[in-house]
Amino acid sequence: MRIVVLAGGIGGARFLRGLKDALGNRADPAGEETEITVVGNTGDDITLFGLRVCPDLDTVMYTLGGGVNEDQGWGRADETFSVREELAAYGMEPQWFGLGDRDVATHVVRSQMLAAGYPLSAITEALCDRWRPGVRLLPMSDDQVETHVLVDDGSGRRAIHFQEWWVRHRARIPAESIVSVGADGAKPAPGVLAALRQADLVLLPPSNPVVSVGSILGVPGIREAVSAKTVVGVSPIIGGAPVRGMADACLSAIGVETSARAVAEHYGPELLDGWLVDEADADTEVAGVAVRAMPLYMSDPERTEAIARAALDLAVELKG
Ligand code: GDP
Ligand code: CA
Repeated sequence: MRIVVLAGGIGGARFLRGLKDALGNRADPAGEETEITVVGNTGDDITLFGLRVCPDLDTVMYTLGGGVNEDQGWGRADETFSVREELAAYGMEPQWFGLGDRDVATHVVRSQMLAAGYPLSAITEALCDRWRPGVRLLPMSDDQVETHVLVDDGSGRRAIHFQEWWVRHRARIPAESIVSVGADGAKPAPGVLAALRQADLVLLPPSNPVVSVGSILGVPGIREAVSAKTVVGVSPIIGGAPVRGMADACLSAIGVETSARAVAEHYGPELLDGWLVDEADADTEVAGVAVRAMPLYMSDPERTEAIARAALDLAVELKG
């Protein structure tokens, strides 16, 4: 069986860990091999101090490779922040982004390889040689696509990088719009369309529907390739609120209500075949989409595995 997962950061990485557990524990009399290809969001990527940082790819890589800070859900375990303190002592900006010392090594490797001319897909593969995430991790595109947010904080309208809006301002400045800069001319990274073509099913973890899954689907060609498949998604919204983070601010910016139903309708029945919602949203109905309710908090490995298994089972059922 071949599965493709479109993943952002924490929600995507935790779901993927559950999916690996579910597949590992699945009775498989045929001894069939399952292959997971992850198409990772690169819209959050940013250049800081000359280093190219890919937060969502790294969150997936560290989580599945056993190097993540478990409490935080992103960044490295046992992290220190000497580089950041030294940069601050020089008055270097920005100071709102948490670059850890261990994490910096990843960005140094990536930046050095980029400067040597390697594409991000090849670099991600090289980094994964160390982390062995147990999935094939592909960036959505080798071309630079950055999410920017058009804000008006009273001093006039301006576009800021998504990370500045999200990390520095905690998404508290209202967003007028969210723009995927460079998406129009971007191509899916090598292997992305082929993986989708060969996929038996596609899963959408409870990742941010706008700036994670939305950015991936915004790379020309990906939405069509995904829509051709049996697709099951997991709602990141429970009882009208995001489980963590400020996805509600992203949804308002694109005029979508913060509810499990509205997110499914935003993806639409031409893309989505099945939708898992939390028990709190058990009355959700979406035309043209099979909705199932179950506890959707990924609070421990067992519950996370159960969510992934339910998504998988629903996809297999809908595929018929
Ligand atoms: P990010 O890039 O680190 O923000 O991570 P993602 O885009 O992958 O995921 C963020 C989304 O995951 C948020 O909108 C959260 O609501 C959702 N999320 C986080 N933890 C959980 C959980 O335990 N259950 C569900 N259903 N959604 C979650
Ligand atoms: Ca992200």
